[in-house]
Amino acid sequence: MKKVSVIIPCYNEAQSLPLLHVELCKLADAEQHYEWEFLFINDGSRDTTINELEKLREKDARCNYVDLSRNYGKEVALLAGFDYVTGDCAVIMDADLQHPPHVAHEMLRKWEEGYEDVYARRKSRGKESWLRKQLSLAYYRLLSKSTRIDVLPNVGDFRLLDRRCIDALCQLREQSRYTKGMYCYIGFKKTFVDFETQDRVAGESSMSYRVLVKLAIEGLTAYTTSPLQWATGVGLVVSLASFLYAIWVIIKTLVWGEPVAGFPTIMIAILFLGGVQLLSLGIIGEYLGRVFNETKNRPVYFVQSFNGDKYEKSRKHH
Ligand code: UDP
Ligand code: MG
Repeated sequence: MKKVSVIIPCYNEAQSLPLLHVELCKLADAEQHYEWEFLFINDGSRDTTINELEKLREKDARCNYVDLSRNYGKEVALLAGFDYVTGDCAVIMDADLQHPPHVAHEMLRKWEEGYEDVYARRKSRGKESWLRKQLSLAYYRLLSKSTRIDVLPNVGDFRLLDRRCIDALCQLREQSRYTKGMYCYIGFKKTFVDFETQDRVAGESSMSYRVLVKLAIEGLTAYTTSPLQWATGVGLVVSLASFLYAIWVIIKTLVWGEPVAGFPTIMIAILFLGGVQLLSLGIIGEYLGRVFNETKNRPVYFVQSFNGDKYEKSRKHH
């Protein structure tokens, strides 16, 4: 019998978990020809998520949970999920039921057809502010212009991955993680199903603008070095322009003389060049910071316990 796992990263999801479990049971009952595993990753929640997970584990042996030693963020929680998951394929979904579990039926059919990465495409983006929607769309345009790898808009972490994809993702162990780009990077046979984003059942979204901006910079700097090239490009254009302007000033002074001290021009040139230099330094700094973090070569996360057991080592990768 093939085994299907569900990976669920959880951060302060105590209220959503019982509701989610009901839905997961419905899903598994309708697909009894598979063995099921529900793998929850507790990403250092500050509420009673861990107690809920203990309760679920007691009730239902299909539930497993990994308790991380602190809050690492969703991207790292997913890596822990890939390390610990045991299924022949895994469906990744959010704990807040924004990703309706019944969509997994359709994903499993596609998997049986031989697809290795079945992603769910949002038909609408659900309740989200207009500004957030526009910013997100503009970001994806920028990203797809500057990379050779296509990162799809309106596609998130809700997807089914074959064992081959999971094993591939386990090998990508960088500290700064942008999982959405990684799915594209690893390749394999992809297809999609459509779904309608639901509203969060309980609790609050923990993805603030600050977290999203951080993730956006991660996405750009992890997948392209083109911002470095933009800096070079802008630098070249500005230098060329200043050079031509300088020649013009010299000729003008020689021919007509220079009655007024050119305060405005000097100020403009200084400020503009200063700005360009700072921008370029900032871009270089972003990359340098990443090199610094990666060279430390630390484990990406630490585990407090697996199913409540401190010493259990069921993960295959290090
Ligand atoms: N999440 C996590 N660690 C975090 C933040 C979020 O594991 O530091 C999980 C969260 O429990 C949920 C999923 O990631 O299952 C998506 O988070 P959220 O609903 O807050 O984001 P949004 O849906 O608003 O993008
Ligand atoms: Mg959510």
